[in-house]
Amino acid sequence: MTNNNIYFVANWKMNGDLSLIKRLKNVINLSNDKKFQKSKIVYCPPYTLISSFVKKTKKSKIQIGSQDCDESKGYGPYTGSISSKLLKDIGAKYVLLGHSEKRNKGDNNSNINLKIKNSLKVNLRIILCVGETLLERKKNKTHIVLKKQITNCLKNIKNIKNIIIAYEPVWSIGTGILPSNNILANDISKLKNFIKSKYKVLNPLIIYGGSVNSKNISELKVIDNIDGFLIGGASLNEKNFIDIIKKTFI
Ligand code: PGA
Repeated sequence: MTNNNIYFVANWKMNGDLSLIKRLKNVINLSNDKKFQKSKIVYCPPYTLISSFVKKTKKSKIQIGSQDCDESKGYGPYTGSISSKLLKDIGAKYVLLGHSEKRNKGDNNSNINLKIKNSLKVNLRIILCVGETLLERKKNKTHIVLKKQITNCLKNIKNIKNIIIAYEPVWSIGTGILPSNNILANDISKLKNFIKSKYKVLNPLIIYGGSVNSKNISELKVIDNIDGFLIGGASLNEKNFIDIIKKTFI
């Protein structure tokens, strides 16, 4: 891990109900505990639970994000759509964009670029997901793919201080298969160097996502350039999520 704050982003995907929120007491306590003051906990529940999460976590350091937003901005006649402005209005601070599960349903670098621009305008922080498929990795195309995703998603965006990159190899999401520490450290370092030189930032933030759980976290945390984790399945269970945070610091 780096010496900076460490992000723990819970991506609940299409899961969760009000009863799960009621059980968040221990995560809330942990977020207020000085021992874990370097942890930045962000919950990204489905749209339906964002307001309840915001209310429930008001007195804690936990922040709430959305898993996506529409590419149209502000308000308007777009039935079934949720803009970044609507999310901001109900208290979201983050928006996760470019997740491979959304790319599989039609998102591409150019509409993700629009979503990012609209979200930045309303001061949401962005967690931009990038990652290669197994075939792309096997063909040694990982870095070409990641650079292209970042360059196109961030087209015409100069200030990236409110953008965190989530590196999620597609083949690692939900599979229990992770890159080795060496490979991951090397991939993150290449990505950081690319971002530093292209966007003139000193400390780009890169978190890792893909099958992170309370067992493999002890191994992952020794990677010295990781700024945190994007956690899907294991974040749905409060105990597992807490274990991940605790083991990162202990
Ligand atoms: P996973 O999901 O932790 O269940 O692999 C991560 C993600 O898709 O963000």
